[in-house]
Amino acid sequence: MKLIVQKFGGSSVANPERIKRAARRIGRYKKEGYSPVVVVSALGDTTDELLKLAGRITKKPSRRELDMLLSTGEQISTALLAMALHERGFDAISFTGAQVGIVTDSAYTRARILNVSPHRILEELKNGKIVIVAGFQGVNVRQEITTLGRGGSDLTAVALAKALQAGSCEIYTDVEGIFTTDPRIAKDARKLKRLSYEEMLELASSGAQVMQARSIEVAGKFGIPVHVRSSFSNGEGTWIVKEDKRMEEVWIRGVSLNKDEAKLTLGGVPNRPGMAAVIFRVLADHGINVDMIIQNIGRTRTDVSFTVSKSDCDAAMNALKGAARRIGFTHISQDADIAKVSVVGVGMRSHAGVAAAMFEALGKNRINIEMISTSEIKISCVVKKKDGEKAVRILHEEFQLGKKQPVRERVK
Ligand code: ASP
Ligand code: MG
Repeated sequence: MKLIVQKFGGSSVANPERIKRAARRIGRYKKEGYSPVVVVSALGDTTDELLKLAGRITKKPSRRELDMLLSTGEQISTALLAMALHERGFDAISFTGAQVGIVTDSAYTRARILNVSPHRILEELKNGKIVIVAGFQGVNVRQEITTLGRGGSDLTAVALAKALQAGSCEIYTDVEGIFTTDPRIAKDARKLKRLSYEEMLELASSGAQVMQARSIEVAGKFGIPVHVRSSFSNGEGTWIVKEDKRMEEVWIRGVSLNKDEAKLTLGGVPNRPGMAAVIFRVLADHGINVDMIIQNIGRTRTDVSFTVSKSDCDAAMNALKGAARRIGFTHISQDADIAKVSVVGVGMRSHAGVAAAMFEALGKNRINIEMISTSEIKISCVVKKKDGEKAVRILHEEFQLGKKQPVRERVK
């Protein structure tokens, strides 16, 4: 059995025409001898609309009920896609996450998959059926419906590919693949043929929103090759695979931009052991994720700045103000007028000078850097929001990522 997992995102099933188009493609694979297991997202913006609907009833919906609500979106697309396949003469059957044994923990709205027992899927495949599974959902051990966090259909697809030992996992979306940067920002952005899980993960967490970050993590952990491609064309997309030696020949794989973060600054924090611990414990206890952190040490007082996602900004301000006495800062401010520009590439490990080249390029173009953070394969700079897109273009050019330029390879 040539098993293949194919995931269709919301834009790929946004209306009846697109659902029929997806059915055509799935049917082609079936005719070629594949046994497709198809994962679908909710139609278009359904999930956002359901969230809005809940918001009109209550400001504080129960998270259990939210999952009951949100999981209905995916159930609609599975049934419609099954019907579209029936129309084309194929035997297809749709399932919820619970029906195909996707068991999660009980963290409603962001549950983790604990186990997948796919015997029902295997049984139906053996009967020659095309199996369609509702993405983004599972069930806890008490049979309560859970969802896997926004974009969670990707995770369903990867988890099924693992459980079914499928050779690969296709992610159909409305772009041709992963690009060196957002083509709307840099016109000469190039589609990448391959990149590593780690690079994709860094790009995803720094603003490139093609796949759910968690799903890439899981794909990487189990070494499942992921093919991100367009549902509107037949072209090869981008393969996300295990890192190999050749990938290191290129300095930088891509440049990303994130405009969804805000910067908070605490001024005049007493300069003594344990203060950073207090600040970030307060944030952690409020469930607020912090991204970049910088601290400037003065003699008796220090300034601490950090970034959080914009949606957490008010909560972070309030939490810190509530702990003002304990922390002892003299002032607090926020700045949402920022953008984070990141360059990512496993080649950074073996090439010196990437940071210098990045800062020089920004400096030459009079773009001020407000914060810097690095990982082994990523360098991020916070700049003024108005400079964000320009910075992306400058760096895309600096690292010769564009179409017409020779890739800067084997730099000794
Ligand atoms: N429909 C869900 C969302 O919009 C899951 C998904 O699309 O993957 O987040
Ligand atoms: Mg969606």
